[in-house]
Amino acid sequence: MQIHLSDISSIDGKCMQVSAGLSFDTVDIHYGSHQTDRFPVLRKEPLELTIANTGNRVLELSGHGEITVGIPCDRCLKEVAVTLPLSFQRKIDMKLTDEERVYDLDESSYLTGMDLDVDRLVCLEILMCWPLKVLCREDCKGICSRCGKDLNEGPCDCQEEPRDPRMAAISDIFRKFKEV
Ligand SMILES: [Zn+2]
Ligand SMILES: [Zn+2]
Repeated sequence: MQIHLSDISSIDGKCMQVSAGLSFDTVDIHYGSHQTDRFPVLRKEPLELTIANTGNRVLELSGHGEITVGIPCDRCLKEVAVTLPLSFQRKIDMKLTDEERVYDLDESSYLTGMDLDVDRLVCLEILMCWPLKVLCREDCKGICSRCGKDLNEGPCDCQEEPRDPRMAAISDIFRKFKEV
């Protein structure tokens, strides 16, 4: 959804509230120039957006809502429904031109001239609150690194991990690295 900001930015003290529907069905996270991870949006509700002109052509945006995204469990890769709260405030200085805004990459991505792109704004907020760690459950056993079986469904036929205490210490170290 696009919101045209020219009316509100020309009247000091003016305030508007919008219930903005989100039109995207996946959250795409780009790595480098070619790699993209795509996560399905499982549930979304309109973003309740308040835009206030605080004077001198400065707009204050505040948004509230939530969105549920399917993110694979870090250990077993099963999709987990993760609800991300959207609650943010941003200031936009409408006196700046698009060229001046380019230095602020965040802002330039969701604001073009007088048009606010709500989807892009929300995507940015989603990235800011993206969870560092996702587990389907606290004690997820993960998948066997040899046969790929989901160990939550029971043990596999592979040999148990070596019981040699030196080996166990090494595998602890590996686990620690993985969690960082
Ligand atoms: Zn899991
Ligand atoms: Zn196995």
